[in-house]
This record gives sequence, structure tokens and C-alpha cells, in this order.
Amino acid sequence: MITRFAPSPTGPLHLGHAYAAWFAWHAAREMGGRFLLRWEDIDASRCRPEHEAAILEDLHWLDLAPDDASMRQSARFSAYEAALGVLRERDLLYPCFCTRRDIQQAGGAPHGPDGPLYPGTCRRLAPERVTERLARGAPHAWRLKMDAAEAHAGPLSWEDRDGGTQRAAPALFGDIVLARKDTPTSYHLAVTVDDAAQGITLVTRGLDLFPATHVHRLLQALLGLPEPKWHHHRLICDASGKRLATRDRALALTQLRSQGWTPARVWQALGVER
Ligand code: GLU
Repeated sequence: MITRFAPSPTGPLHLGHAYAAWFAWHAAREMGGRFLLRWEDIDASRCRPEHEAAILEDLHWLDLAPDDASMRQSARFSAYEAALGVLRERDLLYPCFCTRRDIQQAGGAPHGPDGPLYPGTCRRLAPERVTERLARGAPHAWRLKMDAAEAHAGPLSWEDRDGGTQRAAPALFGDIVLARKDTPTSYHLAVTVDDAAQGITLVTRGLDLFPATHVHRLLQALLGLPEPKWHHHRLICDASGKRLATRDRALALTQLRSQGWTPARVWQALGVER
């Protein structure tokens, strides 16, 4: 059993992160497996080395140090490019030149888990216009032809350690972006490629990311990657029932530590045994 904790170094860890890290660590320990770390740092504008240093310090303080060298997504762009190449060769991708505004103005589109479903504007562009725009370097993302991708992969399901067998329904995302205009990958593609590269056999993450698994299962099948199991765990909420989030400046572990919290107090607050 190989599990991982995959933080984005965009801020300090809070109790929700401590639970996610513990959950992955504990699942690996229970089965005599390994617990790995991955830096999800493709968003260069938001990730900072000082956050990484603080996260490592917190993990050591919690005694949840990873078992092996960590993986860094910002060093893996060639692997993502190779995966995009496989999908492009099968004619499952198309370039999209739309701005966020174009998509909003298309209006009325139903919403998926990541926002409004793409209305397919660029999929209908004449091939010569696509060639011309690419040739002049027009900024573009790459989108998955969802219907063609689903037809290619056939019916899919995954084993969820908590929820049992789940039927994959990636179409709820529509033609998702797999490579962004500003970064030649996306969360969905990078996670899928890297979980396989790290040999992860149990993907543990919060229930907020449950919908993403529909897409990840499809990408695995299209790319011929091994299929792990998943366990989507509960989320840690504040007193008002709202999920703790870095951007809301949820109380950081460093702060709790400076108020005298011990790791034992963290485990008690989270209701787990360490
Ligand atoms: N990096 C993601 C996060 O910070 C987790 C990645 C994943 O488990 O898919 O929530």
C-alpha cells in the first residue's frame, strides 16, 4: 500500500491538512506500506518556498515525515507533455482560445464541479482557423473531447474504500481543460500522471475532491495507467460548520503550536489516535 499527502505550498497547514496527512500516513501504516509526499506547485504565482519549509516543519512536528524522496510537480512538465501527446495522437484534445469572459458571456451553460460547462465554441472552429491561430501563437488551453474520450474508454468504475464501487461519470465536467493557458498542465492531468509515477495504490483525499475522481479514472484509462483504490475522507470544519480553507486564513498549525498546542492535542481535536 502506497499513499501520499499532496499539499500545494500556497500557505501554512491547518487542522484539515493535519487530518489529510494523518489519514494517508495511517492508511499506509495499517498495511505496512509507504507514505509519500508530493508538492503540487504548478501554480508558480501562488507557491512559495517558505510555505514548503513550514509544511515540512509541521509534518516533522506531527511525526508524519514522509518515507521517501518527495515529488515536485513543477519539475514534471515533460511528463505532462508526454501524456498530452498520447491524447492528442488519439484526437481527443482540441485547442481552446476562449477567455474566461468569452465563456461567461456564452451564458446559460449548466455548471459542473469546476464551474460552467464549456459550450464547445472552439471545438467547432474550422481547421484552417485553428492552424492559423496556433501558427501566430494565440494563447490557448487544451480541452478534452469528453464524449469521444468516454466512447474510447468505455464504461468505467472505481473502488472506493468507503463508498464501494462507483460508476465513473466524467461527462459531468464537460470538455475539461487538461493544459491551461498559463501552465501546460492542469490539476486533473498532473495528479493522475503523478499518482501513477509515484506508484500510489490508495489515493486518499477529502470528500470535496470526490467529483474529480470521475475525471481521474477516465484519464487513467485513456493513458493506460494502473488503477489505484480511493478513500475520500471527511472534511474538518470550523465551529460554524464551514470547511477549513487556507484562503480563509484558517488557524494555522504554527499558530496553534505557538499557543502551546502539542501534537497530542491536535490528534485529540481531530478525534484520531496517533
Ligand atoms: N493538492 C490537493 C489539495 O491541496 C490534493 C491533491 C489530491 O489529493 O488530488 O487539496
